[in-house]
Amino acid sequence: MAEAGSAADFLPSQIDLPHLREAAQGCRGCALYRNATQAVFGEGPATARAVLVGEQPGDQEDGTGRPFVGPAGQLLDRALRDAGLDRRALYLTNAVKHFKWEPRGQRRLHRKPAAHEIRACRPWLEAELALLRPRVLVCLGVTAATAVFGRPVRLKDVRGLFSASPLAAATFVTTHPSALLRLRDRQGWEFEYQRLVRDLLLVRERLEAF
Ligand code: SF4
Repeated sequence: MAEAGSAADFLPSQIDLPHLREAAQGCRGCALYRNATQAVFGEGPATARAVLVGEQPGDQEDGTGRPFVGPAGQLLDRALRDAGLDRRALYLTNAVKHFKWEPRGQRRLHRKPAAHEIRACRPWLEAELALLRPRVLVCLGVTAATAVFGRPVRLKDVRGLFSASPLAAATFVTTHPSALLRLRDRQGWEFEYQRLVRDLLLVRERLEAF
């Protein structure tokens, strides 16, 4: 029996991506399912050579059931294009599969997942990566990196580097595109955007080297 408060209790007996996706809808591994519309599972070809992991679904992802379709996803699409990467060839997922939010007037404001929620949700990510076995695993932001490495990490210590993690031999860390959405200064935004594109170019070069 898995430890209390873990998605491990909700994994299906048949482990493939369609069964995992379906089973995630019934997950009660932590409390986040209560206020979310649905679990947002990963999306992309099972043969993807690179997997990108974000933090958690946002408001629009929660509504559509698809990852990276909101403003951060659109910015990621642009950065991927500028780096010469085709989103359709990538598998995109999140460290936490349900949207965590708090009400602010009519809006639902994103709340960062807690360490125990990241831990509880990790079995889904582990199962996805065990099936996909990507050449390169890209963590978008510190929550993704914490989930992948299984310990707290600081972005400034690991950003832009390839290293081995428990979930992939070649693991790369960059920022989450949502961090750019919070920048108000145009120059600062442009600097950070180009930095994100440069990071994604390193991912592309690594993929081309295989
Ligand atoms: S966030 Fe993850 S662990 Fe928590 S209920 Fe949703 S799928 Fe399960």
